[in-house]
Amino acid sequence: MFNIYKLGKKFGDLDVLKSISMNIEKGEVVCIIGPSGSGKSTFLRCLNLLEVPTSGKVYYNGIILDADLDSKKLRREVGMVFQRFNLFPMFTVLKNITYAPIHINHMKKEAAKELAMSLLEKVGLADKADVYPATLSGGQQQRVAIARALAMQPNMLLFDEPTSALDPELVGDVLEVMKQLAADGMTMVVVTHEMGFARDVADRVIFMDKGYIVEEGPPEKIFNNPKHERTQAFLARVL
Ligand code: ADP
Ligand code: MG
Repeated sequence: MFNIYKLGKKFGDLDVLKSISMNIEKGEVVCIIGPSGSGKSTFLRCLNLLEVPTSGKVYYNGIILDADLDSKKLRREVGMVFQRFNLFPMFTVLKNITYAPIHINHMKKEAAKELAMSLLEKVGLADKADVYPATLSGGQQQRVAIARALAMQPNMLLFDEPTSALDPELVGDVLEVMKQLAADGMTMVVVTHEMGFARDVADRVIFMDKGYIVEEGPPEKIFNNPKHERTQAFLARVL
């Protein structure tokens, strides 16, 4: 789905991504771990053109991602779930989910509503359709945000630390929804500090540090037998 070749990203003089090369296959779940400031979010944002790469090449299904590409169209196919859920506070839960399908995907109102209700069912919040986001817990809001992303019927989803803003007791329900999505075959790239999730759900774990992929492999290999000293040091701190 993605071919990434020597991707680099600078902000002025700050060299954030140095030379990232990797592929992401359809149906794959890739978890990205690494210290704060290592470029994980920037990398994700380069995959849906929230950031434009400054060097190297990123292809999505053969199409090159550059400043000329219609980023809105790309983001319909490559959805993103953020750490802060960014729900529209003045819309009900239902309208949060139906808004983009109706106004961007030109879906009929009734069909959008039906889809939204089935997605709310999926994330365990069918009874919350008519309430406003502020009345929900953070975990519930994040599950609505996931339903909202799914309502665009994306080909893949990017998650940037989707549980980092949540109280610990609310993390499990969100991870459960993500686990189900993975089991359904969704292609997912997940930046996370939830090592248990990465171990259980990822097909591949990427350890990033200082703008590079330091090490990657199946979770058993990264967690049980990390080769690189920096991976070992990071895991010793977080596990
Ligand atoms: P991570 O998600 O791994 O914590 P980020 O990708 O958010 O790392 O950030 C990597 C580095 O890039 C940090 O030093 C951060 O301050 C810097 N950075 C990120 N976005 C911008 C931006 N828009 N402008 C300038 N610097 C940025
Ligand atoms: Mg980040």
